[in-house]
Amino acid sequence: MENKDMTLNEMSQIVDKYIGQFEEGYFSPLALLASLSEEVGELAKEINHFYGEKPKRKGEDENTVGMELADCLFILLCFANALDIDLNQAFIKMMDKFNIRDKDRWTKKE
Ligand SMILES: [Mg+2]
Repeated sequence: MENKDMTLNEMSQIVDKYIGQFEEGYFSPLALLASLSEEVGELAKEINHFYGEKPKRKGEDENTVGMELADCLFILLCFANALDIDLNQAFIKMMDKFNIRDKDRWTKKE
């Protein structure tokens, strides 16, 4: 796949086109939740490997934190597509929450 900056909507469309090739389509919400939990677990394993106390066993796959974050993003995009949620809109609302409700929560840089 070409290496270029993409919008969230473009990523959603790529995921939808990919999933659309298969008869099975998107997983159910519960299976998506389980998949997301699996990927978060894999992310935790990489974090523990790179920043924590738990080295990998010999012969264990060498993934990267970036790849595991991308796996999580893929499942999140599947989730939003499957449930017909506009993730772009949700992201805007979520950032408004941080910028309005939590505006004095953290120490601003001078
Ligand atoms: Mg993974």
